Amino acid sequence: DNKEIVNKIVNLRIEKAKLMGYDTYADFVLEETMAKTPKAVYDLLNTIWSYALPQAKKEAAELQAIIDREGGNFKLESWDWWYYAEKLRKEKYALNETEIKPYFKMENVREGIFTVANKLYGLNFKKIDHIPVYNPEVETYEVTDADGSFLAVFYTDYFPRPGKSGGAWMSTFREQWVENEIDIRPLVYNVANFTRPTEQLPSLLTLDEVETMFHEFGHALHGMLSKVNYKGVSCTNVYRDFVELPSQINEHWAFHPEVLKLYAKHYQTGEVIPDSLIEKITNAAYFNQGFMTTELVAAALLDMDWHTQTKQQSFDVREFEKESMKKIGLIQEIIPRYRSTYFTHIFSGGYSAGYYSYLWSEVLDADAFQPFVERGIFDQETAQSFRENILSKGGSDEPMNLYIRYRGAEPNPIYMLKNRGFVK
Ligand SMILES: [Zn+2]
Repeated sequence: DNKEIVNKIVNLRIEKAKLMGYDTYADFVLEETMAKTPKAVYDLLNTIWSYALPQAKKEAAELQAIIDREGGNFKLESWDWWYYAEKLRKEKYALNETEIKPYFKMENVREGIFTVANKLYGLNFKKIDHIPVYNPEVETYEVTDADGSFLAVFYTDYFPRPGKSGGAWMSTFREQWVENEIDIRPLVYNVANFTRPTEQLPSLLTLDEVETMFHEFGHALHGMLSKVNYKGVSCTNVYRDFVELPSQINEHWAFHPEVLKLYAKHYQTGEVIPDSLIEKITNAAYFNQGFMTTELVAAALLDMDWHTQTKQQSFDVREFEKESMKKIGLIQEIIPRYRSTYFTHIFSGGYSAGYYSYLWSEVLDADAFQPFVERGIFDQETAQSFRENILSKGGSDEPMNLYIRYRGAEPNPIYMLKNRGFVK
């Protein structure tokens, strides 16, 4: 039972904020972010909420219809959601992973991310094997710019093995900086735990894994294209709510029909992925988005509510949560993604007054991708501007300044709402 601990943490944070001269802990934390103020965070979350909740209610009705049709004779509850959502997914989207995987051989997808980087930024990737690696499965590439100049070394380490951490991430062996007028170029790596090849089968990736590869490679681009003076602000050394922009925008190319035709080829026949499958992949992106967004925003608002308290006091954790959710009209079929007592992101991780970052970044990546939607997904002028103003700049300026230089305006949440299917 962590209720007492939650209480203690919240009160200590209020005290800390006051000592540092801030009204609330959120004000203290958000000063060094792109969002800057609790008001900006609340504004964004409330906007998204107003679109997500009606959609979640529609989805709840669809699930209730399945229960009724099956003669269930009970009302949908939060613990029923995923069970019936899965039935709905099969009915409505009929996306069969085994039918799709043959088109996503790991090597083909990796070729795909390199091709996209070449078409956008003119980068070239040459496989090399003369530099030391920490495991024989690690592969290395020399990355050069359009004019042939050396940019970075890129390492991939994609398969699980005993003793290796789970998940996927990007990092560097060496960051980028300038010393005595010499540009020290970065050594960047991507690690993942993708489906391992077997004796019969090559590594065939799931859609999630494909998305992950594009995501981590987006972080890698942020590292490899860095061009600043100081190590402390180079590569991905940026504010928490800005760091996912390069990675998440790169996901937009992963399943774009034009891009799929470049790399998604059947591993046995070489046949390009058929349009019918592309259509299924595109439609499946809208599945369950009302629910997913609602539970995420609810958790982000709960985080903000805890960290905008101004008075030290004894909080009734359960009541606090209830009030917080009542205020925004959360329906009983959905609970926030995390309840306070196991919300480790905000109470023991580094995401206090920061859980909103996931949504903030999504607003950014959707808005930042919009010029590519309007002018073409490989539009050179847009790509150059994105590289020049975002990918090469690290944390050398305020993120909002960098962003406005690229986009000409602050990010607009409308494109994120469109991507999630809330707005036509
Ligand atoms: Zn990431």
